[in-house]
Amino acid sequence: MIDIKNISKWYGSFQVLTDCTTTINKGDVVVVCGPSGSGKSTLIKTVNALEPIQQGDIVVDGTSITDKKTNLPKLRSRVGMVFQHFELFPHLSITDNLTLAQIKVLGRSKDESLKRGMKMLDRVGLSAHKDKFPGQLSGGQQQRVAIARALSMDPIVMLFDEPTSALDPEMVGEVLDVMVGLAHEGMTMMCVTHEMGFAKRVSNKVIFMDAGKIVEDCSSADFFGKPEARSPRAKEFLSKIL
Ligand code: ADP
Ligand code: MG
Repeated sequence: MIDIKNISKWYGSFQVLTDCTTTINKGDVVVVCGPSGSGKSTLIKTVNALEPIQQGDIVVDGTSITDKKTNLPKLRSRVGMVFQHFELFPHLSITDNLTLAQIKVLGRSKDESLKRGMKMLDRVGLSAHKDKFPGQLSGGQQQRVAIARALSMDPIVMLFDEPTSALDPEMVGEVLDVMVGLAHEGMTMMCVTHEMGFAKRVSNKVIFMDAGKIVEDCSSADFFGKPEARSPRAKEFLSKIL
């Protein structure tokens, strides 16, 4: 589904990613973890070409992001992304937040986009709030709307970048529950998260990053179950969380 092939990236003269390679298969739930500043957000943003890469290539469902012939907006429309800060449009109702990109990017009719949006809003348990504005919802509810909005686009993969980090603790569970449900339905997911309970229970693969490199790329069973076999940096990380 996603082939990340020897990618390197620089911000100016600072090399943020060094020769990163990994493969994500259909139905994989991949957790990306590692210390702050290790390049997790940058890596995930390169997958839908929100951040350009200077070396290597990424192939998403058969389409290379570096191929000049690739229609990037079209590719991006198939890759759902949920960020730490919900990034809903504050001046639009929940309904309009859900339908805007379907209409503008996918060219769906108003009726069709509404139908799809409402189905996804129901899925995250927020149908009753369709006419509200984002500011009238809690952080956890806004993040669930952001997930529903991404799902309305019928993505082939969902990318999450610390979707629960900005939430009050009592709201983390409701967002994780939605993510667990998605995983169980077979959605291909790549999640940057510090929620190691979620990682252990739900993911099948862990990527551990340090200083711009992928230093571990293994099954979650091996990552959490055989810490002694991990690299020193991952061991140190695990010793703090396990
Ligand atoms: P993580 O998500 O693991 O915390 P990031 O991918 O956000 O790491 O950042 C990796 C490194 O790149 C950090 O040192 C950060 O300061 C730097 N960085 C991130 N974004 C930019 C940017 N737009 N310009 C310059 N440096 C950046
Ligand atoms: Mg980050």
